[in-house]
Amino acid sequence: MNPVLKMYTVREICDGFEYNELEGKGLYGLKGKLTIQPEYQRNYIYADGKRDVAVIESVLKKYPLGLIYFNKVGEDRYEVLDGQQRITSLGRYIKNKFDVKYSGKFKSFTGLDKEVQDRILDTELLVYVCEGTEEEIKEWFKTINIVGIPLNKQEELNAIYSGPFVSACKAEFSNTEHTDKQKWGSFVKGPANRQQFLATALEWVANSKTVSPDTASSKDPVEAYLSKHRRDDNIKEIKTYFETVINWVDNLFDEIHPEMCGLPWGDLYERYGKKSYDHTEVSAKVKQLLLDDYVQDRRGIFEYVLGGCKESRLLNIRLFDKSTQRRVYLRQTEEAKEKGESNCPLCALGSSSNAKRIYKFEEMDADHMTAWSKGGKTTEDNCQMLCKTHNQAKGNR
Ligand SMILES: [Zn+2]
Repeated sequence: MNPVLKMYTVREICDGFEYNELEGKGLYGLKGKLTIQPEYQRNYIYADGKRDVAVIESVLKKYPLGLIYFNKVGEDRYEVLDGQQRITSLGRYIKNKFDVKYSGKFKSFTGLDKEVQDRILDTELLVYVCEGTEEEIKEWFKTINIVGIPLNKQEELNAIYSGPFVSACKAEFSNTEHTDKQKWGSFVKGPANRQQFLATALEWVANSKTVSPDTASSKDPVEAYLSKHRRDDNIKEIKTYFETVINWVDNLFDEIHPEMCGLPWGDLYERYGKKSYDHTEVSAKVKQLLLDDYVQDRRGIFEYVLGGCKESRLLNIRLFDKSTQRRVYLRQTEEAKEKGESNCPLCALGSSSNAKRIYKFEEMDADHMTAWSKGGKTTEDNCQMLCKTHNQAKGNR
């Protein structure tokens, strides 16, 4: 890629500037040849009376505005890769959308003297025009120091893989007015305007595809998926998959709990989506576990229930504290010594050489006599110390 450094005046860049108030987007400049806010860019976020004003003040004080990057997308057609917030601020000011304090007074653009207006319009902006493959643009994004609020991962991917597919995906998943937005928000971390729903939808569908060995490159599945579909304008697959997963969860549990938001539902759907569950039973189990004080990892409850309530490690059940373990150890050991048998009750039952062995505290682990899953509490009267071998054997049952 051969980036070319060019100089444009504010007058040139803002020639034909259009701004969409409804969407909060700067649209065009350079007589329509420049798309200021391509689909993949986030909306205009400088309209806060501070950052937009700061851009104009910088120009008035002849401070540099920093480098701007264009991507050449066709013959004499450009998109802003970086700098759209600054350009949109300039364009909006010239269109009298906000005022800036100048010589002690708040002034709109037309309220300024002709000489000052010209100073703004004749300000030169340094623009790197690049033209390249997705790999090259990607490298650029990693190298250039993006000013202001950095792009998040998905915003960056949208830029690298910009095209009809990303545009169509954004229209679906990044639409803050989408009718299903609230439902999605129960299971997926938002917000839409920073591409979180899109990021999740992509992750789910990309991970559900088995990658054939020859296409399995260093690319992560999401990038591979975007690269493959870049020129598609059909988003049926990703849309259908996302809806399928969301509807599956939504129908499976009869109540929405805050712990459900942001769980790897795509992955859970792949593993459990084909199983049939008793809707009432599953919902009741979840509710019971959410009320259980011994469950320390509440977000693990859903996977635990879907997996048939077997893997209690998912719940991070509260363990016996050290002082309880010590008290139980001392009592058990004293009794064992009197009887002349092992202080591990399970060893004592056997006939091996360990039947009379007295273990050190460090050689034993605490065990729930009545398993937690069968209602046993993490209290001293339900605690016994077992040798590590027996405790592990019991845990694996
Ligand atoms: Zn033992």
